[in-house]
Amino acid sequence: MKYQALKKKAFFATAVLTGTVMLFPVGCPAAAEKDIQNYTDTDFAMDTVVSETLYTTGDDINSKLTSILTDVEKNLLSWTNESSQIYKVNADCGNDTEISEELSGYLERILAIAKDSNGAFDPTIGELIRLWDIGGENQRIPGKDEIQEALKDSGYKKVSLDGNMVHMDKGCSLDLGAAGKGIGCDSILEYLKTQKEVSAALMNLGGSSVMTYGSKPDGSSWNVAVTDPRAENDDDYLGVVALNGTEFLSTSGDYEKYFIENGVRYHHIMDPSTGYPAKSGVTGVTVVCDTGLEADALSTACFVLGVEKGAQLLKAYGADGLFVDEDHHVYLTEGMKERFTVWRILQNEADLPAIWFMTVWQRECSYPRYLR
Ligand code: ADP
Ligand code: MG
Repeated sequence: MKYQALKKKAFFATAVLTGTVMLFPVGCPAAAEKDIQNYTDTDFAMDTVVSETLYTTGDDINSKLTSILTDVEKNLLSWTNESSQIYKVNADCGNDTEISEELSGYLERILAIAKDSNGAFDPTIGELIRLWDIGGENQRIPGKDEIQEALKDSGYKKVSLDGNMVHMDKGCSLDLGAAGKGIGCDSILEYLKTQKEVSAALMNLGGSSVMTYGSKPDGSSWNVAVTDPRAENDDDYLGVVALNGTEFLSTSGDYEKYFIENGVRYHHIMDPSTGYPAKSGVTGVTVVCDTGLEADALSTACFVLGVEKGAQLLKAYGADGLFVDEDHHVYLTEGMKERFTVWRILQNEADLPAIWFMTVWQRECSYPRYLR
């Protein structure tokens, strides 16, 4: 992959833990447990590695699930594919363009998050993103004038939606990349609901967007391990987040795509108000809520907003969040507190990796802090 050189490992890995059991009395599969087969697959879609786990009494439909993601990218969201709706909207800027009901629904929610985050999440900064090209072959620190030029035509207020008609000022363009994987997860969920044989599924897109559906045959919860954003080893986890089978989890971090120059980390999440990589003091944000789009967009927004403002935004959306700051403090919203288990509790203390003690546990016992 283009950004392989500095792309750090995934923030999340799915972890199945013993002892954490949730019961799902409603919607349990009628089929006997022994009839349910478990299929797993690893594929590539939406420019990322997709891990799929399926529990079903029917066929293995993992490849179908991947194709749904590919279709969302190709037909709806792609910035470069001429057949995608976003491509057409961008090509037609300055005019009214008709889009599908599906895309207008997504766009409406995206514009709401842009507004509610006061533009911290902005789907019109594509030009700025390509100028920096973080993780790409042409990544570099652009000049101030170039940044101003790229920002000149951007701004979510330049996009308006009236039913299925979208209008965008001339020069403005849409890039839904920061919510794309979440939208892909939402589409998968809609499809799974029509598949009566499927009792449970987990989709993990690049480690940063996770969808859970239904309940596993043994009734245990879906557990997602949260990696330390500054971890030196792949299995340095902060802890585990439990999802209940109707929830989505998304993470945004400054370690996913970045380069370091003169000791400064330039990463891929931009602050639209400055045109530079966001510097809100956080290194990673994890959001859990009941839709993929919101989880994905909110994690990006929260990364830009930082802990306090980010937590307020999450509250407005009824979402849970976990923030890690540059001092390696971890902040949890009330709801996240309920679903997060500190790794230390799960492990024999003696087995914990050194970095845990160095950077978290010995720091004035400040971990975790609870947000109200
Ligand atoms: P990832 O897609 O790597 O898992 P995110 O969901 O946080 O992570 O999305 C980051 C991507 O979103 C960037 O690579 C960039 O294309 C785009 N982006 C960066 N900053 C913003 C922002 N402030 N608002 C909207 N999109 C952004
Ligand atoms: Mg995102």
